[in-house]
Amino acid sequence: MTGRRARIISVGDELLCGRTVDTNAHDTQKRLLSRGVPVDGVNVVLDTSAAIAAALDATPEGSLVIITGGLGPTPDDLTVDAFADWSGLGLKRSPSVTMHLKTLAADRGFPYGPHMDKQTRVPDDFTAVINPAGTAPGLVGEARGRVLVLLPGVPSEVEALWPGIEADLEARSVFGPPVFSVLRRTSGLSEPALTGLTEPVRALWPDLTWSWWLTRWGVDVQASAAPGATIPEGLAQALDEVLGTRVYADQFVELNQVVQDLLKARGSTIAVAESCTGGLLGAALTDLPGSSAVFCGGVLAYQNEIKERLLGVPGATLAVQGAVSSETAEAMAEGARRLVGADYALAVTGIAGPDGGTDTKPVGTTWLALAGPRGVWSHCERFRSHRARNRRLTVARALDALRRHLQTDRDPWIGDGS
Ligand code: ATP
Repeated sequence: MTGRRARIISVGDELLCGRTVDTNAHDTQKRLLSRGVPVDGVNVVLDTSAAIAAALDATPEGSLVIITGGLGPTPDDLTVDAFADWSGLGLKRSPSVTMHLKTLAADRGFPYGPHMDKQTRVPDDFTAVINPAGTAPGLVGEARGRVLVLLPGVPSEVEALWPGIEADLEARSVFGPPVFSVLRRTSGLSEPALTGLTEPVRALWPDLTWSWWLTRWGVDVQASAAPGATIPEGLAQALDEVLGTRVYADQFVELNQVVQDLLKARGSTIAVAESCTGGLLGAALTDLPGSSAVFCGGVLAYQNEIKERLLGVPGATLAVQGAVSSETAEAMAEGARRLVGADYALAVTGIAGPDGGTDTKPVGTTWLALAGPRGVWSHCERFRSHRARNRRLTVARALDALRRHLQTDRDPWIGDGS
């Protein structure tokens, strides 16, 4: 069947009191879209039978319905019972799930009791997909004209279950024709700047579905063809022409991964000297496995005395130009490179806010510097956001400067102004 759409029902009180972000819906949307099934709605509901039944009632006939959460062993896990009531299907114990849970209990040394037995119940004619990362199985089947998938709430369990669920849905011909798209991940552009730059390209291909969204590193833009249709020739090149060096990836790869790969390809190492970001830059560079091959270490130089004593920033520079200046940023980068013995060093120093701004250096003023074998460069950014976002933007801009330098061997901020 083609043209099927999906609804997601996320079950859990914790999703409605600001405690837990509904990442299952987010991840499920991506998984389904890549299989040609767009999601047309997400319903986040409390852990009550009435709320789950109302959400199921609201799903259109013919749709694929994915429910996550409330499949666990505790009394507040009501999804299976609520679904059985709504669908009119009976529940039977699954021998294969029972065996899986008994083996799990024996391996881990805990008793197999009624709480686990509760998780062996499967609606009539539904398939139980064994959970490789937990206890509650994934359940797939059909009821009241919908294809339904019931999954536990824990995101790592959803991820581990997905291949089995996907195979089952494939066999039921739930997926649509593939949706082809072109993605460009950018850094250093605001959303309006990106939409402005891509406007002529979008005007050439208005029939594509265009979307753009903010990310940890910048803004992504994607153009998707209708299901089964191909991407027009020339589109990728046209996007590259308008976006230029702002593009760091054409698939879902993170900027810190791109930087790590570039450093590894060169056999080069990196150090950091951080003031306003207090370690976030080092964290971004070490987020990924394998980072020790390229990341040497760094200095959190928050106070002037540390900038001077550990990084060798001249006292006169700090006194005259100030801690937030081109001269200080460059001296920090050179000092870190020297101290740590890395090939490259990134330094950041800025006024993250909310206090500390002046007329000439308002909150958000941030100097970034990069030192490497070919020289040292610095650049001023004037972020106009709140403290947390100013710090996040600083990390993204610093990493992207390193990325651009590693790709060009030039001043990474050439043409950016200061
Ligand atoms: P169990 O009770 O065995 O842990 P479960 O299927 O009953 O599994 P829930 O109790 O609903 O799952 O959720 C378990 C945990 O998973 C929650 O505390 C929350 O941290 C996380 N979680 C639940 N739903 C979501 C969601 N939609 N997105 C992200 N995390 C979620």
